[in-house]
Amino acid sequence: MHHGLSDLTRRIERTLRDRLIPATYGAAVPVEVSALHLPGEPIPPAEAIAGEYGPFAVGERWGRAFGTTWFHLTGEVPAAMRGRRVELVVDLGFERSGPGFRSEGLAYTPDGVPIKGIEPRTAWLPVARPARGGERVDLYLEAASNPLFDGSVTTLGDPETIGPELLYRLDRAEIAVLEEDVHALVLDVQTLHGLALELPESDPRRHEVRRALEVMLDELDVADVVGGAAAARARLAGVLASPAAPSAHKISAVGHAHIDSAWLWPVRETIRKCARTFSNVVALAEDYPDFVFACSSAQQYAWMRDHHPLVWERIRAAAARGQFVPVGGMWVESDTNMPGGEALVRQFTQGKRFFADELGVDSREVWLPDSFGYSAALPQLARLAGFRWFLSQKMSWNLTNRFPHHTFWWEGIDGSRVFTHFPPADTYSSELTADQLHHGVRNFAEKGRATRSLLPFGYGDGGGGPTREIIETGHRVADLEGSPRVTIESPSAFFAAAEAEYPDAPVWAGEMYLEFHRGTYTSQHAMKRGNRRTEHLLREAELWAATAAVRAGAAYPYAELDRIWQEMLLLQFHDILPGSSIAWVHREARVTYARLEVELETIIDGALGALAGEGAVPLVFNAAPHERDGVPALAAAPAEVPGTVLVEGDDDGVTLDNALVRVRVGRDGTLASVLDLVADREVLAGAGNVLQLHPDTPNYFDAWDIDDFAFARRRDLTGVTAIEVDTSDPARPLVRVRRTDGDSTYVQTAALAAGARRVDLVTEVDWHQRETLLKVAFPLAVHADRSASEIQFGHVFRPTHTNTSWDAARFEICAHRWLHVGEPGYGAAVVNAETYGHDVTRPAPGDARGPGSTTVRLSLLRAPRYPDPETDQGRHRLAYGLVVGAEIADAVREGYRANLPVRQRTGAGPVAPLVSVSSPAVVVEAVKLADDRSGDVVVRLYESLGGRAKARLTAGFGVERAWVCDLVEHEDEEIAALAPLTTAGDEVTLDLGPFQVVTLRLRAAR
Ligand SMILES: [Zn+2]
Repeated sequence: MHHGLSDLTRRIERTLRDRLIPATYGAAVPVEVSALHLPGEPIPPAEAIAGEYGPFAVGERWGRAFGTTWFHLTGEVPAAMRGRRVELVVDLGFERSGPGFRSEGLAYTPDGVPIKGIEPRTAWLPVARPARGGERVDLYLEAASNPLFDGSVTTLGDPETIGPELLYRLDRAEIAVLEEDVHALVLDVQTLHGLALELPESDPRRHEVRRALEVMLDELDVADVVGGAAAARARLAGVLASPAAPSAHKISAVGHAHIDSAWLWPVRETIRKCARTFSNVVALAEDYPDFVFACSSAQQYAWMRDHHPLVWERIRAAAARGQFVPVGGMWVESDTNMPGGEALVRQFTQGKRFFADELGVDSREVWLPDSFGYSAALPQLARLAGFRWFLSQKMSWNLTNRFPHHTFWWEGIDGSRVFTHFPPADTYSSELTADQLHHGVRNFAEKGRATRSLLPFGYGDGGGGPTREIIETGHRVADLEGSPRVTIESPSAFFAAAEAEYPDAPVWAGEMYLEFHRGTYTSQHAMKRGNRRTEHLLREAELWAATAAVRAGAAYPYAELDRIWQEMLLLQFHDILPGSSIAWVHREARVTYARLEVELETIIDGALGALAGEGAVPLVFNAAPHERDGVPALAAAPAEVPGTVLVEGDDDGVTLDNALVRVRVGRDGTLASVLDLVADREVLAGAGNVLQLHPDTPNYFDAWDIDDFAFARRRDLTGVTAIEVDTSDPARPLVRVRRTDGDSTYVQTAALAAGARRVDLVTEVDWHQRETLLKVAFPLAVHADRSASEIQFGHVFRPTHTNTSWDAARFEICAHRWLHVGEPGYGAAVVNAETYGHDVTRPAPGDARGPGSTTVRLSLLRAPRYPDPETDQGRHRLAYGLVVGAEIADAVREGYRANLPVRQRTGAGPVAPLVSVSSPAVVVEAVKLADDRSGDVVVRLYESLGGRAKARLTAGFGVERAWVCDLVEHEDEEIAALAPLTTAGDEVTLDLGPFQVVTLRLRAAR
């Protein structure tokens, strides 16, 4: 007889699909269904359970987008099910295509105790195991009709534009017997079949496994799968028992559910998504003692504590057993490109404090699988916050270059290193299938040097997290010939072993730039503006409140500041600040930013009042870390009287001249000339402050991406409707240029202040373009191989050329308050108060500007149509400036100034700073009172130029003790050793390394 005439692969897959999987549930009886429809916002479970339910039948439609329907499900287990494992199976109208992102539910008992989520891949609720028969089923299912977003333009993301259509159909609600042997047989077959397909044709193991499956199928009566399942399993037991090879790769599998804190749903839905998934997880943890689930984001735990206390209690119990493992130690999985230095610190300190206080846990690994690239400031901040390890996988999304390592040391701008791992399976939502396991092994760049990798498993974003099927699959591949070994264990168990076996891992220095999602530095401008503004208001609020507490005995608003920080940190989540969420999310964020601004202004106002005292002395409060107009840093004093600025107009334009800089605005409203009178050189290599439009239709993700081909076409806005000169402030005259283009209007102002070497520019836009990128260009007469961009606590250099694919791929870059280009002896900087996206280019072939110039552009606005079809439509104000003759130190100073305008008050007299620093290279980033409410003053400072500095810090109050602590404000010998200090009276002398961040604690003498 010949073998193999028919296709065994197809036979196995067909039998699984049509015979085995459908037999997983046997006998079934329907339950009674009634429903309470809430098309708008959810209500508390107790209220919903007590509501009026109307008749409802399986097969009926339910669920307006983002509405909630409560199903009341009642029934009785038939006597015939006695002795069997019985479950309630509910299909809310799941499509077969995916595990999350759609309708989902959470089941409650009649007294409001949450039991378990209902999601596409875990659509069952426990009823009896084993059943006696006659058990009553009486459950309430809070079902959410979250719409599926598929990348096309839709109005479903905004409660104001959602239509009345019902999105889902209740397809099933039955009490059913789970045929445990069939269920197990399905997993056996899937595991073995998947394994065999991954093994090469030449491997006898492949054929052994397939032959075992073939024999099993030959013997199985497909008309009686239930009756034959146990024997079929016995037939496969031998091939399943054969152990893994000694050299098999080791995979640490970690249960996980990546739940975006807001994205294609509003924050309130994330809270429910967390409750559903975490309910599943704690139930699984009880069923599977070896199961370990890693969960990041203190915010998500805080939501459970505050909104779902019963889920929270079960989480705490599972955490105490080591099964629910808090990881990451951050408030949320934030973006890391745009948050400012102090905000990134607070992501860590707020997260760590929550985990320590509420769960008694100190996380050792940073957990950012999905953020859109990683700032080179992170290694130092992670180490200073007490982390040892770093996990991501997002770099596998690079479109151009392949990241060379999976396990490596990542080195930041200051030289700090953190041991880093990227799961080589390239996913954070694995099902532990053979193709994922084997892809990870094949892909693992460290083979031969390291033997292990990590693999998060479970469905995120409303998929319900890990399932019993994935865990059971994990057990089958724990020690299986041909497969990598899979052990379910915690991330820290993995990292400790990975670091121990590979201490000499390669080093990646500098940022991890994601070659994708470059539009996230610009999309949803209100997020960028709100973030930058709130960060600086928080700096001011803490500085002035701490100063008022020490100087005037004012109360320090600890609780209020904590809450405001936490609200802002949530908005730095990696789909909110990047602008990649639906309209609903961004509207709520705008409202929050506006409220936080008012709250912070109130705190600042109270503190300034306490500090200024009674009197008529005109005072200027300077929250910036550098002196300005005679007012010391972090202090208040009368300002020097400014000089005046010369204004001249003629047919060709307007000239502003402050004897340092002469600015000429041409007839087309652009900057025709910026003459540095000190250096006696022209700064511009062509017209400056030119608005440029590019068609912006990315290939993949609209709000996320700017593709290189966007720059193939460009249109400059040079049409002018009016040019006006405004000399109402003779110390700061300005030229106002009005433009109209299609439905959009622009008002651009250029101002020059007396004594300034900075041209202040504002572009106000009423923006009605679609799918268009708006940039503003500054061709500079500076020959620069590289640009310097501010990041958290320092800066990174990036080449201006495109010699290699790595250089070319960084065609759109993120900078914080400033971007600098320079040649020996001369440089210029562009500063901004609310934008992040930039590009820096050399002249194109044939460019009239010729060799030796460098063009710096800021990305002002975009208008993608997905997921928010109205992104950025309407009015915006964008402030930025051009600093002439700037070294990097000038860029640092002007960057702070552009974001921290002075405040005027009248009062009794000057207010001395709490601290002053002698070194111009050393910058104070934060002054606050300690989180432990001891009254100690905490000062965070850093070396800003990338060199070494000796700094003398003078406290403006009697100091009993001064010491260096970690970011969480705890004393730590290792961290103190990094910054040796000497104290003499109220003076502290510190030696700082390049870009070193130091947290200093000062205890006032009492
Ligand atoms: Zn995400």
